[in-house]
Amino acid sequence: MKIAFLGLGDIGALIASHLAREPFELVVWNRTASKANDFAQKQGVGIAQTPAQAVTGAEVIITCLPSSVEVEAVLHGENGMLESLRKGAVLIDCTSGDPPTSRSIAAELGGRGVDFIDAPVSGGTTAAKAGTLTVMWGGDESVFERVRPVIEAFGKKIVHAGPVGAGDALKAVNNALLAVHILSAAEGLAVLVKAGVNPATALDVINASSGRSNSSENLIPQRVLTRAFPRTFRLALLEKDIGIAAVLAEDLGVLTPLISLTAERFHEAREKLGEEADHVEAVKMVEAENGLEIK
Ligand code: NDP
Repeated sequence: MKIAFLGLGDIGALIASHLAREPFELVVWNRTASKANDFAQKQGVGIAQTPAQAVTGAEVIITCLPSSVEVEAVLHGENGMLESLRKGAVLIDCTSGDPPTSRSIAAELGGRGVDFIDAPVSGGTTAAKAGTLTVMWGGDESVFERVRPVIEAFGKKIVHAGPVGAGDALKAVNNALLAVHILSAAEGLAVLVKAGVNPATALDVINASSGRSNSSENLIPQRVLTRAFPRTFRLALLEKDIGIAAVLAEDLGVLTPLISLTAERFHEAREKLGEEADHVEAVKMVEAENGLEIK
């Protein structure tokens, strides 16, 4: 099966590494060519100079880009994929995208005999490395069945969320919850630090109690208390996801003041901490505002 993979970022490269073997025949493209060169050399796969070249002859195309804006760009931009997609191909978009754009891409490709599913992932770089990502996909069952082996190569829990765009919606809401949990845990621990409670002691209790979350159980102990703050998922991307959730809520007329406030706070964090900061570094904003460190 000929696969084209576009977007070798923090998670994209790890997903693509599971496709660099038989029965797949992989060709990669990345905007910054050096990353594609390094990947192709290490994994022994093909390399393309443009998106158009990458998808020529491909039966399956996977995009893993920051947002749907960049997916549109590699589709329609200079040397874009659109005119080179072969009839009968399937585009799997692993970007955490936005539902309306995914629906419009699916409609446009459908008119050309090309199928589309949105297939955002969760589990972070650890699960991506292990090939055990959760994949939430939107689209037709019959299309999914044609690409099932490809998705199973990097996914473990694979769930049909609904029609095209449903995977994006589910992913955006999941990540809005992640953002709420990071900030709420940071605020709670800031209070406890001021109250003279050791944060490790506080987490020991919280994690045996009803206030726990993935942030309190994993992210904060492993990354904040240690001051390690590794970059695995950019804060800018999480801010984008909460924004998608907030717009989705507004479009559907659902009142979500907490998600809106969290979107504002992450926007502030992105402005203060920059494009390359990791998502967990949002905790640093809470620390700075309160003149303390959670450690
Ligand atoms: P990164 O920021 O690490 O990488 C982004 C990739 O997109 C790079 O290959 C980059 O190319 C490429 N890119 C950026 N802008 C453009 C453009 N205008 N045209 C073409 N290519 C472009 O992102 P991740 O790999 O972390 O994330 C990819 C997607 O997966 C995002 O939607 C993210 O929300 C989602 N995700 C990420 C997770 C994680 O743990 N990292 C977890 C779950 C989902 P270049 O190398 O040139 O910069």
